[in-house]
Parts: sequence; C-alpha cells; structure tokens
Amino acid sequence: MSLVTLPGGSGPVAIVGAGPGDPGLLTVKALQALQQADVVLFDALVSQPILDLINPQAECIAVGKRCGRHSMTQDEINRLLVAKARGDRAVVRLKGGDPLMFGRGGEEMQALKQAGIDYYVVPGVTAASACSAYAAMPLTHRTLSRGVTFVTGHGKGGEEINNWPELAMENHTLVVYMGIKRAEAIAEGLMRGGRSPTTPVAIVSRASQPQQQVLTGTLAQLAQMVTQPEVQTPAALVIGEVVALSDDLHWFVPPSGSDEVVEQQFG
Ligand code: SAH
Repeated sequence: MSLVTLPGGSGPVAIVGAGPGDPGLLTVKALQALQQADVVLFDALVSQPILDLINPQAECIAVGKRCGRHSMTQDEINRLLVAKARGDRAVVRLKGGDPLMFGRGGEEMQALKQAGIDYYVVPGVTAASACSAYAAMPLTHRTLSRGVTFVTGHGKGGEEINNWPELAMENHTLVVYMGIKRAEAIAEGLMRGGRSPTTPVAIVSRASQPQQQVLTGTLAQLAQMVTQPEVQTPAALVIGEVVALSDDLHWFVPPSGSDEVVEQQFG
C-alpha cells in the first residue's frame, strides 16, 4: 500500500509548499512530488537543501522574486506555468512556506483554471508556524493570546497599509510577513490604536534554518530593532504577549559548528 496517493498521469500541476527551509519540514506528499517531477518552477525563498531533493533529471527553473528584484513578472510566471503544463510532463510549482499564504498561489490556480489545466495543492509549513515553533512562542495560549492574525506589511506593489490601529487588540498575536521595511509605521499604528509600548515583539530571521536569529524587545523598540545586523531576510515580526514565553521555552539550537548568538534581547 502506498503512503500517499498523488493524482495520476502527467496532467495536473502540483502547487507545492516547501515550508520555511528545513527539508525535514516538507510533507511526504511534497517530497514525492519533487522526486517525480519533470519540471520544477521554484521561488527564491526555497532553500538549497530542498532543491537538492528534486529529481536530478528534472528541468529546474528559478522564477523567484526577492525584495522587489523580479526575475519574472507574475504574468510571465503564469504563462510559463501554463506552457510547461501543456508539455505532457509532470510539473511542480514549488513555493516557500505554504503556497496559499502570501504566496500568490491563488493567482496561479486562477491562471491554470482559466487555461483548463488541472492542479492540486500540497500545503506547506508557513513562516508563522515555523517562527512560532522554532523561536518557542506559541501563537495562541489560554491566558496570553486568544487569537492570531497573519498579515502582510505592505500591499500589492509595496503600497502602505494604514489599518494598524484596528489590529491593536490585547491578548492577541500578530504575525507580520514582509514587515521589516514597514516596522516603524506598524509599531506606530499599533501604539496609536492602543497597543502598549511594552508589548513584547520578536523578529525571527530564517526560522528553522541553521542561520536562524531571534531578536526580542518591545513594540516601542521595534523601529530600532529592525536596523540591527542580526536581522536577516527572510524575517517575520511576531507581536504579542506570547513572545515573552520564548526566553523560558526556547529549545532550538542551530547545528553544531555555528558559534553565532541565536537568541538576543534588544537594548
Ligand atoms: N508563502 C510563504 C510566505 C511568502 S511571503 C509562507 O507561507 O511562509 C515572504 C515572507 O515570509 C518573508 O518576507 C518573511 O516575512 C516570511 N518568511 C518566509 N520564510 C521565512 C523564514 N524561514 N523565517 C522567517 N520569515 C519567513
């Protein structure tokens, strides 16, 4: 009996989440799709150890974008995906984290649907889950956080988001993807909305990877924290009372050989 069943034939495109970087966090289904792929279109955030698991005979195409530097526009990616899918080969669209969390996976599904091409989606471990687990800060906690919001730091094309005061609830966790460049406005908006300046915050860089760095401080310090050298991309902001647990609960020690300080208190 096989452990997982993938749709048969060369038809459907697999839209696969690669998780946050540690290959051990791939799903069995993701690994199987990578091993059976004939063509893989992958993003910049996908780590090398994961790329190393792809069928060595597969054609691998980097279509990623990183910090505004586009190697291809989304339209070009959609067109390439459709063209490759028509080539009667097993096509995998490999995306960092979860493909449907700030990953434009939805737009690619729409493009495939419009072209009449079947697809299936393999979810991945999203950055918020990786930061939470590997920096030891639960996203919810019965006494510290009744809920969690995942939000992006900027809108389409980099435009400002101005509703930070609406996200200022106490006992609530906020995970901000792509928020480093907007940290000052985010902190200011949350404090204007009533979030205490002493609210614990963390910047988790490269969660789950050997180079993981966690910098903790307060909302009032956030604007300065993002300028520190230990803040490396990709990084996410975790804001809320639960961040205070990290000091006591942290467990992740990057692989031996790394002599870097991995967990730091700002100030
Ligand atoms: N689809 C991805 C998110 C893509 S948006 C996911 O589900 O995780 C890219 C943003 O994700 C980055 O700017 C950063 O905020 C966050 N991110 C991705 N990988 C990360 C990692 N390993 N550690 C910390 N943040 C990460």
